[in-house]
Amino acid sequence: MKTVSLIGSTGSIGRQTLDVVKMHKDKFSVKCLTARSNVELLLKQAEEFLPEYIGVTDTDKYKELKTFSNNKYKILAPDEANMFASTAADFIVVSCTGINGLLPTINALKNGKNVGLANKETLVTGGKFVIDALREGKGNLFPIDSEHSAVWQSLRAGNEKEVKKVILTASGGPFVDYTKEELKSVTPSMALKHPNWNMGGKITIDSATLMNKGLEFIEAMYLFDLKPEQIEIVVHRQSIIHSMVEYIDNAVVCEMSYPTMIIPIQYAMTYPERSETEIKSLDFCAVGKFDFEKPRYDAFPCLRLALNAAQYGGIMPIVLNAANDFAVYEFLREKIGFIDIAKIVECELNRTVNVNNYSLEDIPLIDREVKERLEGTC
Ligand code: MN
Repeated sequence: MKTVSLIGSTGSIGRQTLDVVKMHKDKFSVKCLTARSNVELLLKQAEEFLPEYIGVTDTDKYKELKTFSNNKYKILAPDEANMFASTAADFIVVSCTGINGLLPTINALKNGKNVGLANKETLVTGGKFVIDALREGKGNLFPIDSEHSAVWQSLRAGNEKEVKKVILTASGGPFVDYTKEELKSVTPSMALKHPNWNMGGKITIDSATLMNKGLEFIEAMYLFDLKPEQIEIVVHRQSIIHSMVEYIDNAVVCEMSYPTMIIPIQYAMTYPERSETEIKSLDFCAVGKFDFEKPRYDAFPCLRLALNAAQYGGIMPIVLNAANDFAVYEFLREKIGFIDIAKIVECELNRTVNVNNYSLEDIPLIDREVKERLEGTC
């Protein structure tokens, strides 16, 4: 029996991780659940999965959690909940949003844990520190992002030296065919309807701007030790091929399924084994055909901005992520338009003086600094 600790249990990935646990009760038991603020769902989950520890990181909600939990669980204090959760079980799922995933991920790896990482910001902002922690050799990092899980699965077909490049697939998002003019009038409710994937609000907007693919590009560089020129992005509207690896003999290996996060989550949890899922078997004749296209960099400038930040290195990916975070939030609150997201990110990157020497502790400070500066000027 593997014990599981879940950081961010009430979000989309957190809930689906618990679906996997429910499907394989003989394999997993839940030891710890943390969330940001959704006390109601957290308590419902606790009732069903009976963890020893639960916690929220929001200080106001902490009081609420204490009141309603009836002393059935050990309640973690808000400022230490995620750090505690990062070593509380055999397998740690990091599925919280934003840069809050960074320190728990590193702590888990340093303490020899197996980590299923669903949080992109962790590698985008602190990739080199995560890789340093991995190199200490105690813990393991398994990707939960569907593209990176597909690459990881495809990498089992050859060895590291035989990899030529990685091809990340993108659905293109809900506005794949919109003209630049049409993109000006996109509203949050339009952007929140993704054709293939059902996800949280932030990542759904990132998918619509293609920033999500840019963040995944940076994620892939760290996870698989790739140079930017070894990663190609291809729009594949059907979202059946989740990504591919090309080897030195030009053979391409990919992973396919109907769009689902269950397979990536479960594969990370059961690796190196596989287990049954309730996902439908792929019916190729029903799918009919696969399309592949170049991404439209001109209509979706966020993608190019992310690739540039990846090339620059240093603190640029941290600034990119912070500015994007800020802009997406402003868009969701209807303070800015859809195309302003890229403008804000570009403006912030342009006025940043890059620094190559920074510490792990600097990352949250840079994040806050960028957001405060944008608050004043936007
Ligand atoms: Mn993804």
